[in-house]
Amino acid sequence: MDLSRRGVVAGAFGASGLALAQASSPAHAQPPPASGDALPDFAFNLGGAPLGKNKAGCWSRQANVTEFPVSTGLAGVLMSLAPGALRELHWHANAAEWAYVISGQCRITVIDPQFNHETSDFNPGDVWYFPRGYGHSIQAVGSQDCVFLLVFDSGYFSEYATFSITDWVGHTPPDVLAKAFGVPASTFANFPKEEVYFAPGPVPGPLPAEPPPGSARTGPFPHRYQLLAQKPTDLGNAKLRLVSSKEFPISTTMTGALMDIAPGGLRTLHWHPNADEWQYYLAGRARMTVFLSQGRASTVELAPGYVGYVPRGCGHYIENIGSDPVQAVIAFNSGEYQEITLTEWMASNPPQLLAANFSQPESLFIELARKASL
Ligand code: MN
Ligand code: MN
Repeated sequence: MDLSRRGVVAGAFGASGLALAQASSPAHAQPPPASGDALPDFAFNLGGAPLGKNKAGCWSRQANVTEFPVSTGLAGVLMSLAPGALRELHWHANAAEWAYVISGQCRITVIDPQFNHETSDFNPGDVWYFPRGYGHSIQAVGSQDCVFLLVFDSGYFSEYATFSITDWVGHTPPDVLAKAFGVPASTFANFPKEEVYFAPGPVPGPLPAEPPPGSARTGPFPHRYQLLAQKPTDLGNAKLRLVSSKEFPISTTMTGALMDIAPGGLRTLHWHPNADEWQYYLAGRARMTVFLSQGRASTVELAPGYVGYVPRGCGHYIENIGSDPVQAVIAFNSGEYQEITLTEWMASNPPQLLAANFSQPESLFIELARKASL
């Protein structure tokens, strides 16, 4: 796929001709629906959401269908761990977990059903992916808090479908544990009785460059991908880094992206045939319009800490409306990346067809196709 032609372009269809948006206010400016039900909100302030778990210097904020009803296909959690603190061993029954490290350093452990296991360190800009049900943990290993974004491939992700190791062990009779581990039941007398979730701990030392022989059994596909280290696709005044299952084979159900839009730039009009889109804004001020058919469109403004959402198949575009670059982390609930761009779609059709479709002269569409191919 030639992203330089179909990705982010400057200006061309900005606020003028093809814009579907109406005027917007600083918060949300949704045009009235043409008919029927009110439109849902396509933006959510995750940074301003109430704290979920909050202990041991660690916290989380969540956006699933309860907080952000439109987001049925994906859910997100913003999480911060104090140095040395652990998001305890757990698994998720109803979703795979994709993550992007925003600041600080952390170390993950993960096990798969073949008992392959991996311990890896993560820096800002790194991505992990844990298939649904794989057991994992996350620990902050640097001298500062580690903040990361978790995205799940179901909007119905919740803590109720998350299984923590202390919760299970704490609610298992000690005599059963004694049989399982081959030790006296008294061994477990002082284990936590309830879910720990966040556990404080000392900052561990660096990972050995070479694990001792026999101590590691990593699977064929690593769970870490260094997205920020990827050479971005240059799209004029914008950049896109993309990580699908093509670049990151274990990520079979999710694709991620880091999108940068320069001031005045536009992420051009497009849709995704196969996936919902979940965005988290790291920097800048953006305005997104989602086209919903039947004359309906919704425009939202997005600032750092905000989540934007685009249901599968809905047309959309994003403008940088500030004086600073826009940067957003994006996740899709498919391991295969698919995109169709309005400009390319039109350029691929015969000018006489477009002339009839729009009741405009053929020459206009020859010119638009020429510009689309530049
Ligand atoms: Mn998890
Ligand atoms: Mn998109």
